[in-house]
Amino acid sequence: MKREFAVIGLGRFGGSICRELSAEGMDVLAIDTTESKVNEFRNIASHAVIADATDERVLKELGIRNIDHVIVAIGEDIQASILTTLMLKELGIKKITVKAQNDYHEKVLNKIGADQVIHPERDMGRKIAHSIISNNILDHLELSDDHSIVEIKASKKLVGRTLVDLDIRANYGCNVVAIKSGETKEINVSPMATETIGQGDTLVIIGADRDISRFEKQLVIED
Ligand code: ADP
Repeated sequence: MKREFAVIGLGRFGGSICRELSAEGMDVLAIDTTESKVNEFRNIASHAVIADATDERVLKELGIRNIDHVIVAIGEDIQASILTTLMLKELGIKKITVKAQNDYHEKVLNKIGADQVIHPERDMGRKIAHSIISNNILDHLELSDDHSIVEIKASKKLVGRTLVDLDIRANYGCNVVAIKSGETKEINVSPMATETIGQGDTLVIIGADRDISRFEKQLVIED
């Protein structure tokens, strides 16, 4: 299904979103104030225009109202990012995703009604920190300030054990929601308690950060 997107700000982050959406066959309107940036995206996005997104009249002329999802990836200029988000909100855009530069910026964006606020440097930093702590932690997705989903490669302490024997929920307060087989690569969502963890398997665990951390310390990190 083709959906209409607009990406405002074609720096490293916005540029990458624009490239990926276009590569997936999506209809993307790319906007930046800098001519050289816009030229770079002329053959990539469906439409690429030089425009200042803080100018409401310009946004209206571009027909931004008809676009389903707008991604605001204006970098350093926090004021421009906030003003643009506010105007998009007032124009009634269904979904607005905004890149935040820092925690204060994020707070303001949430207050003015951005649907999704992302903080790529901070989030990537957290993910990498987790994978540095242990090679077994493959991915880390924050659900809220204190809840996450983590993907963990089965450590020696886990291989050959069953979920009932580990009793992760009772002992650590978190849940194994899926096991990806190291052998067949198949994913078993909501595995049975009698499931045995195999060599090379990946466990997908959901829970409070402090519970996941306890699980990691005792069964994953000291491998
Ligand atoms: P990144 O950290 O993702 O590389 P940058 O700060 O380098 O972010 O890029 C932000 C982009 O947003 C720049 O290309 C800049 O020209 C563009 N930009 C800044 N202000 C506006 C605006 N008011 N309207 C449209 N584009 C803007």
